[in-house]
Amino acid sequence: MATNKTSQRYQASCHCQLIRYTVTLSPPLHDPESWVVECNCSICARNGYLNVYVQNECIQFDNVDLNSNLVEKYRFGKERVQHYFCSRCGSSLMAESIEPGFYEGVKALNVRMFQGVDVRTLQRREVDGRSL
Ligand SMILES: [Zn+2]
Repeated sequence: MATNKTSQRYQASCHCQLIRYTVTLSPPLHDPESWVVECNCSICARNGYLNVYVQNECIQFDNVDLNSNLVEKYRFGKERVQHYFCSRCGSSLMAESIEPGFYEGVKALNVRMFQGVDVRTLQRREVDGRSL
């Protein structure tokens, strides 16, 4: 059955507003078919990531982009994935694969950075990242 997918734009930022960006999600976060990923891997467990996976072209950085040295980068383990956090307030913003062909063109965005979104109202899907 064909469905009419709507999209919604979200303003997102780190806590201190140094890094601000706009995200367009289709379907929106509160669509019945939408869900966020709660993962139990070592970094998600510590940082409380609640992730949505978004194509790069759906993310617009307002002021600084991820290459800025205002954004800290962190890799661990096999170093296939790079995590980004604010150099000033430490907010965990997002992560992406840096290995060609492995989740290329997609970022995992932490919806806790989205303004006006009550994460308690979102459907969650648990992922056993610890076992991967
Ligand atoms: Zn900040």
